[in-house]
Amino acid sequence: MYRTHTCGELRVENLDQSVCLSGWVQKVRRLGAMTFVDLRDRYGITQLVVGEGAPAALKQAVDRLGREFVVQARGRVVERASKNNKIPTGEIEVVLEALGILAESDTPPFTIEEQTDGGDDIRMKYRYLDLRRAAVRGNLELRHRMARAVRNYLSDLDFIEVETPVLIKSTPEGARDFVVPSRMNPGQFYALPQSPQTFKQLLMVSGFDRYFQIVKCFRDEDLRADRQPEFTQVDCEMSFVEQDDVLEVFEGLMRHLFREIRGIEVGPFPRMTWGEAMSEYGCDKPDLRFGMKIVELTGIVQRKGFAVVDEAEYVGAIRVPGCAGYTRKQLDELTDFVKRPQIGAKGLLYVRYDEDGSLRSSVDKFYTEVDLTAWAAACEAVPGDLLLLLLGERAKTLPRLGELRIEMGNRLGLRDKNTFKPLWVTDFPLLEWDEEMRRFYAMHHPFTSPKPEDVEKMESDPASVRANAYDLVINGVEIGGGSIRIHDSALQSKMFDRLGFTREEAEAQFGFLLGAFKYGAPPHGGIAFGFDRLVSLFAGLDSIRDVIAFPKNNSGRDVMIDSPSDVSPTQLEELCISVQIPGTPVTR
Ligand code: ASP
Repeated sequence: MYRTHTCGELRVENLDQSVCLSGWVQKVRRLGAMTFVDLRDRYGITQLVVGEGAPAALKQAVDRLGREFVVQARGRVVERASKNNKIPTGEIEVVLEALGILAESDTPPFTIEEQTDGGDDIRMKYRYLDLRRAAVRGNLELRHRMARAVRNYLSDLDFIEVETPVLIKSTPEGARDFVVPSRMNPGQFYALPQSPQTFKQLLMVSGFDRYFQIVKCFRDEDLRADRQPEFTQVDCEMSFVEQDDVLEVFEGLMRHLFREIRGIEVGPFPRMTWGEAMSEYGCDKPDLRFGMKIVELTGIVQRKGFAVVDEAEYVGAIRVPGCAGYTRKQLDELTDFVKRPQIGAKGLLYVRYDEDGSLRSSVDKFYTEVDLTAWAAACEAVPGDLLLLLLGERAKTLPRLGELRIEMGNRLGLRDKNTFKPLWVTDFPLLEWDEEMRRFYAMHHPFTSPKPEDVEKMESDPASVRANAYDLVINGVEIGGGSIRIHDSALQSKMFDRLGFTREEAEAQFGFLLGAFKYGAPPHGGIAFGFDRLVSLFAGLDSIRDVIAFPKNNSGRDVMIDSPSDVSPTQLEELCISVQIPGTPVTR
Protein backbone atom coordinates (compact mmCIF):
# COMPACT_ATOMS: atom_id res chain seq x y z
CA MET A 1 0.00 0.00 0.00
CA TYR A 2 1.47 3.33 -1.06
CA ARG A 3 -0.44 5.48 1.37
CA THR A 4 -2.91 5.49 4.23
CA HIS A 5 -3.76 9.16 3.81
CA THR A 6 -3.29 11.95 1.31
CA CYS A 7 -1.04 14.94 1.98
CA GLY A 8 -4.06 17.14 2.66
CA GLU A 9 -5.80 14.99 5.17
CA LEU A 10 -4.10 14.78 8.55
CA ARG A 11 -5.31 16.89 11.47
CA VAL A 12 -4.90 16.93 15.26
CA GLU A 13 -7.55 14.19 15.37
CA ASN A 14 -4.92 11.89 13.86
CA LEU A 15 -2.29 12.50 16.57
CA ASP A 16 -0.23 9.45 17.43
CA GLN A 17 -1.42 7.47 14.42
CA SER A 18 1.07 5.62 12.28
CA VAL A 19 0.57 6.80 8.74
CA CYS A 20 2.02 6.40 5.30
CA LEU A 21 2.04 9.21 2.74
CA SER A 22 3.22 9.38 -0.86
CA GLY A 23 3.92 12.51 -2.83
CA TRP A 24 6.41 15.00 -4.22
CA VAL A 25 9.09 16.77 -2.24
CA GLN A 26 8.31 20.45 -2.50
CA LYS A 27 10.99 21.69 -0.19
CA VAL A 28 13.67 20.41 2.21
CA ARG A 29 14.72 22.70 5.06
CA ARG A 30 17.56 21.89 7.38
CA LEU A 31 17.50 23.68 10.72
CA GLY A 32 20.40 22.55 12.88
CA ALA A 33 19.95 18.88 13.56
CA MET A 34 16.37 18.84 12.33
CA THR A 35 15.28 18.43 8.72
CA PHE A 36 11.81 19.36 7.51
CA VAL A 37 10.33 18.13 4.26
CA ASP A 38 7.19 19.56 2.66
CA LEU A 39 5.46 16.65 0.98
CA ARG A 40 2.90 17.55 -1.64
CA ASP A 41 0.17 15.84 -3.59
CA ARG A 42 -3.02 17.03 -5.23
CA TYR A 43 -4.76 17.32 -1.88
CA GLY A 44 -2.26 19.42 0.03
CA ILE A 45 1.06 19.60 1.80
CA THR A 46 2.14 17.77 4.93
CA GLN A 47 5.31 18.52 6.85
CA LEU A 48 7.62 15.60 7.56
CA VAL A 49 10.31 15.93 10.20
CA VAL A 50 13.49 14.02 10.91
CA GLY A 51 14.94 14.64 14.34
CA GLU A 52 18.41 14.35 15.80
CA GLY A 53 17.83 10.87 17.16
CA ALA A 54 16.71 9.38 13.85
CA PRO A 55 18.54 6.30 12.55
CA ALA A 56 21.51 7.06 10.32
CA ALA A 57 19.98 5.31 7.29
CA LEU A 58 16.93 7.52 7.49
CA LYS A 59 19.05 10.65 7.78
CA GLN A 60 21.03 9.55 4.75
CA ALA A 61 17.86 8.96 2.74
CA VAL A 62 16.60 12.42 3.63
CA ASP A 63 19.95 13.93 2.70
CA ARG A 64 19.59 12.54 -0.82
CA LEU A 65 16.22 14.22 -1.40
CA GLY A 66 15.90 16.91 -4.00
CA ARG A 67 12.97 18.98 -5.17
CA GLU A 68 10.22 17.00 -6.87
CA PHE A 69 11.53 13.57 -5.82
CA VAL A 70 8.60 11.18 -5.41
CA VAL A 71 8.74 9.46 -2.02
CA GLN A 72 6.81 7.22 0.28
CA ALA A 73 7.04 8.26 3.92
CA ARG A 74 6.06 6.33 7.03
CA GLY A 75 5.83 7.90 10.42
CA ARG A 76 3.80 9.07 13.37
CA VAL A 77 1.54 12.11 13.54
CA VAL A 78 2.55 14.63 16.22
CA GLU A 79 1.45 18.13 17.10
CA ARG A 80 3.67 20.86 15.69
CA ALA A 81 5.56 23.09 18.04
CA SER A 82 5.13 26.08 15.74
CA LYS A 83 1.83 25.86 13.91
CA ASN A 84 1.16 27.09 10.39
CA ASN A 85 -2.36 28.41 10.15
CA LYS A 86 -2.04 29.00 6.40
CA ILE A 87 -2.52 25.34 5.50
CA PRO A 88 -5.17 22.87 6.73
CA THR A 89 -2.52 20.39 7.90
CA GLY A 90 -0.56 23.12 9.66
CA GLU A 91 -1.19 21.90 13.19
CA ILE A 92 0.51 18.55 12.77
CA GLU A 93 3.62 17.02 11.31
CA VAL A 94 4.75 13.47 10.66
CA VAL A 95 7.86 12.24 12.46
CA LEU A 96 9.59 10.14 9.83
CA GLU A 97 10.31 6.50 10.58
CA ALA A 98 10.99 5.22 7.07
CA LEU A 99 11.42 6.83 3.70
CA GLY A 100 11.43 5.20 0.26
CA ILE A 101 12.39 7.07 -2.88
CA LEU A 102 9.93 6.08 -5.60
CA ALA A 103 11.38 8.33 -8.31
CA GLU A 104 14.14 10.86 -8.49
CA SER A 105 13.75 14.19 -10.24
CA ASP A 106 15.99 16.52 -12.16
CA THR A 107 15.99 20.02 -10.77
CA PRO A 108 12.75 21.49 -12.15
CA PRO A 109 13.10 24.49 -14.48
CA PHE A 110 11.01 26.69 -12.16
CA THR A 111 9.79 26.57 -8.60
CA ILE A 112 6.59 24.64 -8.18
CA GLU A 113 5.01 26.79 -5.55
CA GLU A 114 2.25 29.35 -5.20
CA GLN A 115 4.57 32.12 -6.45
CA THR A 116 6.72 30.65 -9.17
CA ASP A 117 9.84 32.12 -10.70
CA GLY A 118 8.99 30.67 -14.13
CA GLY A 119 7.86 32.91 -17.02
CA ASP A 120 4.93 32.00 -19.28
CA ASP A 121 6.96 30.32 -21.99
CA ILE A 122 8.87 27.96 -19.74
CA ARG A 123 5.75 27.05 -17.81
CA MET A 124 3.96 26.22 -21.07
CA LYS A 125 6.83 24.05 -22.22
CA TYR A 126 6.71 22.17 -18.94
CA ARG A 127 2.98 22.37 -18.55
CA TYR A 128 2.89 19.05 -16.66
CA LEU A 129 5.03 20.67 -13.97
CA ASP A 130 2.99 23.86 -13.93
CA LEU A 131 -0.10 21.72 -13.43
CA ARG A 132 1.42 20.54 -10.14
CA ARG A 133 0.94 24.06 -8.79
CA ALA A 134 -2.15 24.43 -6.66
CA ALA A 135 -3.45 27.51 -8.46
CA VAL A 136 -3.33 25.95 -11.90
CA ARG A 137 -4.72 22.64 -10.68
CA GLY A 138 -7.45 24.53 -8.83
CA ASN A 139 -8.66 25.96 -12.14
CA LEU A 140 -9.04 22.48 -13.58
CA GLU A 141 -10.79 21.27 -10.45
CA LEU A 142 -13.22 24.15 -10.85
CA ARG A 143 -13.70 23.20 -14.48
CA HIS A 144 -14.50 19.65 -13.48
CA ARG A 145 -17.01 20.75 -10.84
CA MET A 146 -18.70 23.02 -13.36
CA ALA A 147 -18.87 20.30 -16.02
CA ARG A 148 -20.39 17.95 -13.48
CA ALA A 149 -22.93 20.54 -12.36
CA VAL A 150 -23.91 21.17 -15.99
CA ARG A 151 -24.31 17.44 -16.66
CA ASN A 152 -26.38 16.88 -13.56
CA TYR A 153 -28.62 19.85 -14.09
CA LEU A 154 -29.36 19.09 -17.72
CA SER A 155 -29.70 15.35 -17.16
CA ASP A 156 -32.26 16.04 -14.45
CA LEU A 157 -34.23 18.00 -17.04
CA ASP A 158 -34.21 15.00 -19.41
CA PHE A 159 -31.45 16.25 -21.68
CA ILE A 160 -29.50 13.40 -23.27
CA GLU A 161 -25.79 13.73 -23.94
CA VAL A 162 -25.06 12.52 -27.46
CA GLU A 163 -21.64 12.48 -29.10
CA THR A 164 -21.53 13.85 -32.60
CA PRO A 165 -18.71 13.18 -35.09
CA VAL A 166 -15.43 15.06 -35.13
CA LEU A 167 -14.58 14.28 -38.74
CA ILE A 168 -17.23 16.16 -40.67
CA LYS A 169 -17.53 18.29 -43.75
CA SER A 170 -16.14 21.70 -44.57
CA THR A 171 -18.72 24.42 -45.11
CA PRO A 172 -18.14 27.88 -46.46
CA GLU A 173 -20.01 29.80 -43.74
CA GLY A 174 -18.57 30.80 -40.38
CA ALA A 175 -14.90 30.81 -39.43
CA ARG A 176 -12.13 29.00 -41.24
CA ASP A 177 -12.21 25.21 -40.89
CA PHE A 178 -9.42 22.94 -39.80
CA VAL A 179 -9.27 20.17 -42.37
CA VAL A 180 -8.01 16.60 -42.22
CA PRO A 181 -6.96 14.79 -45.39
CA SER A 182 -8.65 11.49 -46.09
CA ARG A 183 -6.24 8.72 -47.07
CA MET A 184 -9.01 6.50 -48.35
CA ASN A 185 -10.45 9.26 -50.49
CA PRO A 186 -7.41 10.84 -52.09
CA GLY A 187 -7.68 14.58 -52.57
CA GLN A 188 -10.66 14.86 -50.23
CA PHE A 189 -10.80 16.31 -46.76
CA TYR A 190 -12.82 16.11 -43.62
CA ALA A 191 -13.31 19.26 -41.58
CA LEU A 192 -13.26 19.44 -37.80
CA PRO A 193 -16.54 20.82 -36.47
CA GLN A 194 -16.78 24.52 -35.63
CA SER A 195 -19.79 23.38 -33.65
CA PRO A 196 -22.13 20.38 -33.84
CA GLN A 197 -24.87 22.68 -35.16
CA THR A 198 -26.31 20.62 -37.99
CA PHE A 199 -25.99 17.36 -36.06
CA LYS A 200 -27.92 18.64 -33.09
CA GLN A 201 -30.64 19.83 -35.42
CA LEU A 202 -30.73 16.39 -37.05
CA LEU A 203 -31.09 14.88 -33.58
CA MET A 204 -34.21 16.99 -33.15
CA VAL A 205 -35.53 15.64 -36.45
CA SER A 206 -34.77 12.19 -34.97
CA GLY A 207 -37.01 12.98 -32.03
CA PHE A 208 -34.39 13.28 -29.27
CA ASP A 209 -36.29 16.29 -27.96
CA ARG A 210 -33.56 17.50 -25.58
CA TYR A 211 -29.87 17.14 -26.36
CA PHE A 212 -26.68 18.43 -24.86
CA GLN A 213 -23.00 17.74 -25.25
CA ILE A 214 -19.86 19.08 -23.64
CA VAL A 215 -17.90 19.10 -26.84
CA LYS A 216 -14.67 20.19 -28.46
CA CYS A 217 -15.05 22.62 -31.33
CA PHE A 218 -12.40 23.88 -33.72
CA ARG A 219 -12.00 27.22 -35.47
CA ASP A 220 -8.96 28.28 -37.42
CA GLU A 221 -9.00 31.93 -36.38
CA ASP A 222 -6.42 34.40 -35.16
CA LEU A 223 -5.94 33.90 -31.45
CA ARG A 224 -6.60 36.23 -28.57
CA ALA A 225 -6.75 35.88 -24.82
CA ASP A 226 -10.24 34.43 -25.01
CA ARG A 227 -9.74 32.29 -28.10
CA GLN A 228 -8.07 28.95 -28.69
CA PRO A 229 -8.11 26.94 -31.94
CA GLU A 230 -9.84 24.15 -30.03
CA PHE A 231 -12.28 25.05 -27.33
CA THR A 232 -15.17 23.50 -25.51
CA GLN A 233 -18.85 24.25 -25.82
CA VAL A 234 -21.79 23.20 -23.74
CA ASP A 235 -23.97 22.62 -26.77
CA CYS A 236 -27.73 22.25 -26.33
CA GLU A 237 -30.86 21.85 -28.43
CA MET A 238 -34.55 21.46 -27.61
CA SER A 239 -37.68 20.64 -29.61
CA PHE A 240 -41.11 22.27 -29.45
CA VAL A 241 -39.77 25.45 -27.93
CA GLU A 242 -39.97 29.17 -28.43
CA GLN A 243 -37.37 31.69 -27.38
CA ASP A 244 -38.80 32.11 -23.88
CA ASP A 245 -38.66 28.36 -23.23
CA VAL A 246 -34.98 28.22 -24.14
CA LEU A 247 -34.06 31.28 -22.11
CA GLU A 248 -35.91 29.96 -19.09
CA VAL A 249 -34.13 26.60 -19.08
CA PHE A 250 -30.67 28.07 -19.53
CA GLU A 251 -31.16 30.95 -17.18
CA GLY A 252 -31.98 28.17 -14.73
CA LEU A 253 -28.74 26.40 -15.60
CA MET A 254 -26.71 29.57 -15.04
CA ARG A 255 -28.43 30.34 -11.77
CA HIS A 256 -27.71 26.78 -10.67
CA LEU A 257 -24.02 27.18 -11.50
CA PHE A 258 -23.73 30.49 -9.67
CA ARG A 259 -25.40 28.98 -6.64
CA GLU A 260 -23.54 25.65 -6.61
CA ILE A 261 -20.11 26.85 -7.61
CA ARG A 262 -19.86 30.40 -6.34
CA GLY A 263 -22.56 30.41 -3.69
CA ILE A 264 -24.22 33.47 -5.17
CA GLU A 265 -27.84 34.16 -5.99
CA VAL A 266 -28.21 36.08 -9.22
CA GLY A 267 -31.60 37.66 -9.84
CA PRO A 268 -33.64 37.34 -13.05
CA PHE A 269 -31.53 38.17 -16.07
CA PRO A 270 -32.54 41.41 -17.76
CA ARG A 271 -33.24 41.24 -21.48
CA MET A 272 -32.09 43.88 -23.89
CA THR A 273 -32.53 44.06 -27.64
CA TRP A 274 -29.46 44.25 -29.81
CA GLY A 275 -30.56 47.75 -30.89
CA GLU A 276 -30.72 48.96 -27.29
CA ALA A 277 -27.38 47.38 -26.44
CA MET A 278 -25.73 49.09 -29.38
CA SER A 279 -27.18 52.53 -28.75
CA GLU A 280 -26.77 52.52 -24.96
CA TYR A 281 -23.54 50.57 -24.54
CA GLY A 282 -21.95 50.72 -27.98
CA CYS A 283 -21.58 46.96 -28.20
CA ASP A 284 -23.63 43.78 -28.32
CA LYS A 285 -22.14 42.47 -25.08
CA PRO A 286 -22.65 45.19 -22.51
CA ASP A 287 -20.93 45.06 -19.16
CA LEU A 288 -23.73 45.91 -16.73
CA ARG A 289 -21.54 46.07 -13.65
CA PHE A 290 -21.55 49.82 -14.07
CA GLY A 291 -23.77 52.49 -15.64
CA MET A 292 -22.24 55.25 -17.76
CA LYS A 293 -24.73 54.62 -20.54
CA ILE A 294 -24.19 56.35 -23.84
CA VAL A 295 -26.42 59.39 -24.40
CA GLU A 296 -27.08 60.69 -27.89
CA LEU A 297 -26.52 64.45 -28.13
CA THR A 298 -26.67 64.94 -31.90
CA GLY A 299 -29.67 67.27 -31.95
CA ILE A 300 -28.52 69.20 -28.90
CA VAL A 301 -24.97 70.01 -29.93
CA GLN A 302 -25.49 70.87 -33.56
CA ARG A 303 -26.16 74.22 -35.31
CA LYS A 304 -23.84 76.31 -33.14
CA GLY A 305 -21.36 77.00 -35.88
CA PHE A 306 -18.84 74.26 -35.12
CA ALA A 307 -18.53 72.58 -38.50
CA VAL A 308 -17.04 69.27 -37.32
CA VAL A 309 -19.97 68.78 -34.97
CA ASP A 310 -22.59 70.08 -37.37
CA GLU A 311 -21.49 67.71 -40.10
CA ALA A 312 -21.38 64.63 -37.89
CA GLU A 313 -24.07 62.01 -38.40
CA TYR A 314 -23.98 61.24 -34.70
CA VAL A 315 -22.70 62.79 -31.47
CA GLY A 316 -22.80 60.80 -28.25
CA ALA A 317 -21.49 61.14 -24.72
CA ILE A 318 -20.82 59.22 -21.58
CA ARG A 319 -21.07 60.80 -18.17
CA VAL A 320 -18.14 59.85 -15.98
CA PRO A 321 -19.05 60.40 -12.35
CA GLY A 322 -16.67 62.34 -10.14
CA CYS A 323 -14.02 62.98 -12.79
CA ALA A 324 -14.47 66.73 -13.42
CA GLY A 325 -11.11 67.23 -11.75
CA TYR A 326 -9.26 65.20 -14.39
CA THR A 327 -6.00 66.93 -15.24
CA ARG A 328 -4.98 68.02 -18.67
CA LYS A 329 -2.59 65.10 -18.76
CA GLN A 330 -5.32 62.59 -17.91
CA LEU A 331 -7.57 64.03 -20.61
CA ASP A 332 -4.72 63.89 -23.12
CA GLU A 333 -4.27 60.24 -22.23
CA LEU A 334 -7.95 59.60 -22.94
CA THR A 335 -7.64 61.45 -26.23
CA ASP A 336 -4.68 59.25 -27.14
CA PHE A 337 -6.72 56.23 -26.12
CA VAL A 338 -9.60 57.01 -28.49
CA LYS A 339 -7.18 57.91 -31.29
CA ARG A 340 -5.44 54.53 -31.16
CA PRO A 341 -5.89 52.73 -34.47
CA GLN A 342 -7.89 49.97 -32.72
CA ILE A 343 -10.44 52.58 -31.65
CA GLY A 344 -10.04 55.01 -34.53
CA ALA A 345 -11.66 58.23 -33.29
CA LYS A 346 -10.30 61.53 -34.59
CA GLY A 347 -10.49 63.27 -31.24
CA LEU A 348 -12.30 63.63 -27.97
CA LEU A 349 -14.47 66.48 -26.70
CA TYR A 350 -15.06 66.92 -23.01
CA VAL A 351 -17.03 69.01 -20.57
CA ARG A 352 -15.98 69.42 -16.96
CA TYR A 353 -18.90 70.04 -14.63
CA ASP A 354 -17.00 71.52 -11.72
CA GLU A 355 -18.05 71.16 -8.12
CA ASP A 356 -18.93 74.88 -8.02
CA GLY A 357 -21.47 74.28 -10.80
CA SER A 358 -19.47 75.90 -13.61
CA LEU A 359 -19.09 74.13 -16.92
CA ARG A 360 -15.92 74.19 -18.99
CA SER A 361 -15.42 72.39 -22.25
CA SER A 362 -12.66 71.70 -24.71
CA VAL A 363 -14.72 73.63 -27.28
CA ASP A 364 -15.62 76.74 -25.27
CA LYS A 365 -15.13 78.83 -28.40
CA PHE A 366 -18.33 77.51 -29.94
CA TYR A 367 -20.56 76.94 -26.97
CA THR A 368 -21.91 79.10 -24.17
CA GLU A 369 -22.44 77.93 -20.63
CA VAL A 370 -26.16 77.72 -21.44
CA ASP A 371 -25.38 75.27 -24.26
CA LEU A 372 -23.21 73.18 -21.99
CA THR A 373 -25.92 73.19 -19.34
CA ALA A 374 -28.27 71.61 -21.87
CA TRP A 375 -25.71 68.91 -22.65
CA ALA A 376 -25.22 68.23 -18.96
CA ALA A 377 -28.97 68.04 -18.43
CA ALA A 378 -29.35 65.55 -21.30
CA CYS A 379 -26.69 63.39 -19.65
CA GLU A 380 -28.25 63.84 -16.21
CA ALA A 381 -24.88 65.12 -15.03
CA VAL A 382 -24.26 66.57 -11.59
CA PRO A 383 -21.42 68.80 -10.39
CA GLY A 384 -18.22 66.78 -10.24
CA ASP A 385 -18.96 64.83 -13.44
CA LEU A 386 -16.97 64.74 -16.61
CA LEU A 387 -18.69 64.36 -19.98
CA LEU A 388 -16.75 62.68 -22.77
CA LEU A 389 -18.08 63.14 -26.31
CA LEU A 390 -17.27 61.41 -29.57
CA LEU A 391 -18.75 62.11 -32.96
CA GLY A 392 -18.82 60.80 -36.50
CA GLU A 393 -20.62 58.07 -38.36
CA ARG A 394 -23.15 56.52 -36.00
CA ALA A 395 -22.18 52.90 -36.70
CA LYS A 396 -18.52 53.67 -35.93
CA THR A 397 -18.95 56.18 -33.11
CA LEU A 398 -21.10 53.99 -30.92
CA PRO A 399 -18.53 51.18 -30.65
CA ARG A 400 -15.85 53.81 -29.92
CA LEU A 401 -17.95 55.21 -27.11
CA GLY A 402 -18.43 51.63 -25.95
CA GLU A 403 -14.65 51.13 -25.76
CA LEU A 404 -14.20 54.43 -23.96
CA ARG A 405 -16.89 53.44 -21.48
CA ILE A 406 -15.06 50.18 -20.71
CA GLU A 407 -11.78 52.07 -20.36
CA MET A 408 -13.37 54.44 -17.85
CA GLY A 409 -14.93 51.47 -16.04
CA ASN A 410 -11.45 49.99 -15.71
CA ARG A 411 -9.87 53.25 -14.62
CA LEU A 412 -12.50 53.79 -11.96
CA GLY A 413 -12.32 50.20 -10.73
CA LEU A 414 -15.95 49.50 -11.58
CA ARG A 415 -15.36 46.07 -13.09
CA ASP A 416 -15.07 43.95 -9.99
CA LYS A 417 -14.34 40.29 -10.78
CA ASN A 418 -16.55 39.05 -8.00
CA THR A 419 -19.65 40.87 -9.18
CA PHE A 420 -21.66 39.10 -11.86
CA LYS A 421 -24.18 40.85 -14.10
CA PRO A 422 -25.71 38.48 -16.62
CA LEU A 423 -28.19 39.52 -19.30
CA TRP A 424 -29.80 38.25 -22.47
CA VAL A 425 -29.30 40.21 -25.66
CA THR A 426 -32.06 39.44 -28.17
CA ASP A 427 -33.30 40.49 -31.60
CA PHE A 428 -30.00 40.49 -33.43
CA PRO A 429 -30.10 41.36 -37.10
CA LEU A 430 -30.47 38.19 -39.13
CA LEU A 431 -28.02 39.28 -41.81
CA GLU A 432 -24.88 41.30 -41.93
CA TRP A 433 -23.74 43.07 -45.08
CA ASP A 434 -20.14 42.48 -46.08
CA GLU A 435 -19.01 45.47 -48.09
CA GLU A 436 -15.90 43.78 -49.44
CA MET A 437 -17.64 40.61 -50.59
CA ARG A 438 -20.77 42.58 -51.49
CA ARG A 439 -23.06 39.99 -49.99
CA PHE A 440 -25.02 39.21 -46.86
CA TYR A 441 -23.71 36.84 -44.23
CA ALA A 442 -25.78 35.23 -41.50
CA MET A 443 -24.94 37.09 -38.32
CA HIS A 444 -25.43 33.96 -36.22
CA HIS A 445 -25.54 31.07 -38.69
CA PRO A 446 -27.66 30.20 -41.72
CA PHE A 447 -30.04 28.00 -39.70
CA THR A 448 -31.26 30.82 -37.49
CA SER A 449 -34.87 31.69 -38.05
CA PRO A 450 -36.00 35.23 -38.72
CA LYS A 451 -38.63 36.68 -36.39
CA PRO A 452 -41.93 35.50 -37.91
CA GLU A 453 -43.16 39.08 -38.26
CA ASP A 454 -40.04 40.00 -40.25
CA VAL A 455 -40.06 37.09 -42.72
CA GLU A 456 -41.83 39.13 -45.38
CA LYS A 457 -38.95 41.65 -45.38
CA MET A 458 -36.43 38.95 -46.35
CA GLU A 459 -36.80 40.09 -49.99
CA SER A 460 -37.66 43.76 -49.69
CA ASP A 461 -35.40 44.88 -46.83
CA PRO A 462 -33.12 42.06 -45.74
CA ALA A 463 -30.89 44.26 -43.56
CA SER A 464 -33.80 45.10 -41.28
CA VAL A 465 -34.89 41.52 -40.63
CA ARG A 466 -34.41 40.54 -37.00
CA ALA A 467 -33.33 37.09 -36.01
CA ASN A 468 -34.95 34.89 -33.42
CA ALA A 469 -31.54 34.78 -31.77
CA TYR A 470 -30.16 35.50 -28.32
CA ASP A 471 -26.83 35.78 -26.55
CA LEU A 472 -26.04 35.30 -22.91
CA VAL A 473 -23.64 38.03 -21.80
CA ILE A 474 -21.98 38.21 -18.40
CA ASN A 475 -19.76 41.15 -17.39
CA GLY A 476 -19.14 42.18 -20.97
CA VAL A 477 -18.25 38.68 -22.15
CA GLU A 478 -20.33 36.71 -24.62
CA ILE A 479 -20.80 33.45 -22.77
CA GLY A 480 -23.36 31.81 -25.01
CA GLY A 481 -25.47 32.27 -28.08
CA GLY A 482 -28.24 30.48 -29.84
CA SER A 483 -31.45 30.80 -31.75
CA ILE A 484 -34.75 29.33 -32.72
CA ARG A 485 -34.03 27.50 -35.95
CA ILE A 486 -35.65 27.39 -39.31
CA HIS A 487 -37.46 24.04 -39.44
CA ASP A 488 -39.07 24.42 -42.79
CA SER A 489 -37.12 23.43 -45.87
CA ALA A 490 -38.73 26.14 -48.02
CA LEU A 491 -37.71 28.92 -45.62
CA GLN A 492 -34.27 27.36 -45.24
CA SER A 493 -33.86 27.41 -49.03
CA LYS A 494 -34.93 31.04 -49.07
CA MET A 495 -32.29 31.81 -46.47
CA PHE A 496 -29.62 30.14 -48.60
CA ASP A 497 -30.85 32.22 -51.55
CA ARG A 498 -30.41 35.37 -49.49
CA LEU A 499 -26.89 34.31 -48.61
CA GLY A 500 -26.12 34.03 -52.28
CA PHE A 501 -26.00 30.24 -52.55
CA THR A 502 -27.18 28.77 -55.82
CA ARG A 503 -29.65 25.90 -55.46
CA GLU A 504 -26.84 23.52 -56.42
CA GLU A 505 -24.45 24.92 -53.85
CA ALA A 506 -27.06 24.78 -51.10
CA GLU A 507 -27.84 21.21 -52.09
CA ALA A 508 -24.17 20.21 -52.16
CA GLN A 509 -23.38 21.81 -48.80
CA PHE A 510 -26.51 21.27 -46.78
CA GLY A 511 -28.60 18.84 -48.83
CA PHE A 512 -28.64 16.43 -45.88
CA LEU A 513 -30.33 19.01 -43.66
CA LEU A 514 -32.78 20.22 -46.29
CA GLY A 515 -33.54 16.57 -47.00
CA ALA A 516 -34.11 15.80 -43.32
CA PHE A 517 -36.50 18.71 -43.01
CA LYS A 518 -38.71 17.02 -45.58
CA TYR A 519 -39.41 14.22 -43.11
CA GLY A 520 -41.11 16.05 -40.31
CA ALA A 521 -38.85 18.51 -38.49
CA PRO A 522 -40.20 19.72 -35.15
CA PRO A 523 -39.91 23.40 -34.28
CA HIS A 524 -36.63 23.59 -32.38
CA GLY A 525 -34.01 25.90 -30.98
CA GLY A 526 -30.97 25.84 -28.79
CA ILE A 527 -27.88 27.49 -27.54
CA ALA A 528 -24.19 26.84 -27.02
CA PHE A 529 -22.04 28.17 -24.20
CA GLY A 530 -18.33 28.77 -24.40
CA PHE A 531 -17.32 26.53 -21.54
CA ASP A 532 -13.73 27.76 -21.27
CA ARG A 533 -14.93 31.34 -21.02
CA LEU A 534 -17.54 30.43 -18.48
CA VAL A 535 -14.99 28.68 -16.28
CA SER A 536 -12.48 31.51 -16.56
CA LEU A 537 -15.21 33.97 -15.61
CA PHE A 538 -16.06 31.91 -12.53
CA ALA A 539 -12.37 31.64 -11.72
CA GLY A 540 -11.92 35.41 -12.06
CA LEU A 541 -9.31 34.99 -14.80
CA ASP A 542 -8.84 36.99 -17.97
CA SER A 543 -7.46 34.25 -20.15
CA ILE A 544 -9.17 30.99 -21.04
CA ARG A 545 -5.73 29.41 -21.32
CA ASP A 546 -5.54 29.12 -17.56
CA VAL A 547 -8.57 26.85 -17.42
CA ILE A 548 -7.39 24.51 -20.18
CA ALA A 549 -5.07 21.68 -19.21
CA PHE A 550 -2.89 21.81 -22.30
CA PRO A 551 -3.56 25.05 -24.16
CA LYS A 552 -1.93 26.45 -27.28
CA ASN A 553 0.02 29.68 -27.43
CA ASN A 554 -0.79 32.77 -29.46
CA SER A 555 0.62 31.26 -32.61
CA GLY A 556 -1.58 28.21 -32.19
CA ARG A 557 1.36 26.08 -31.11
CA ASP A 558 1.54 23.54 -28.37
CA VAL A 559 5.12 24.23 -27.28
CA MET A 560 5.16 21.22 -24.98
CA ILE A 561 4.59 18.55 -27.62
CA ASP A 562 5.89 20.89 -30.34
CA SER A 563 2.89 20.86 -32.60
CA PRO A 564 1.99 21.51 -35.35
CA SER A 565 4.95 19.67 -36.84
CA ASP A 566 6.16 18.21 -40.10
CA VAL A 567 4.94 14.81 -41.17
CA SER A 568 7.03 12.29 -43.03
CA PRO A 569 7.16 12.26 -46.84
CA THR A 570 5.63 8.77 -46.68
CA GLN A 571 2.64 10.07 -44.78
CA LEU A 572 2.20 12.86 -47.30
CA GLU A 573 2.48 10.42 -50.15
CA GLU A 574 -0.18 8.18 -48.66
CA LEU A 575 -2.42 11.22 -48.42
CA CYS A 576 -1.60 12.29 -51.99
CA ILE A 577 -0.52 15.67 -50.71
CA SER A 578 2.34 17.70 -52.04
CA VAL A 579 3.51 20.61 -49.96
CA GLN A 580 5.38 23.62 -51.10
CA ILE A 581 6.45 26.09 -48.50
CA PRO A 582 7.52 29.33 -50.21
CA GLY A 583 11.25 29.30 -50.79
CA THR A 584 11.72 25.53 -50.44
CA PRO A 585 11.62 22.74 -53.00
CA VAL A 586 8.39 20.74 -53.36
CA THR A 587 8.18 17.76 -51.01
CA ARG A 588 5.97 14.85 -51.84
N1 ASP B 1 -23.78 26.47 -32.91
C1 ASP B 1 -23.89 27.83 -32.46
C2 ASP B 1 -22.50 28.39 -32.18
O1 ASP B 1 -21.55 27.66 -32.13
C3 ASP B 1 -24.72 27.96 -31.23
C4 ASP B 1 -26.16 27.68 -31.46
O2 ASP B 1 -26.78 28.32 -32.30
O3 ASP B 1 -26.69 26.82 -30.76
O4 ASP B 1 -22.35 29.58 -31.97
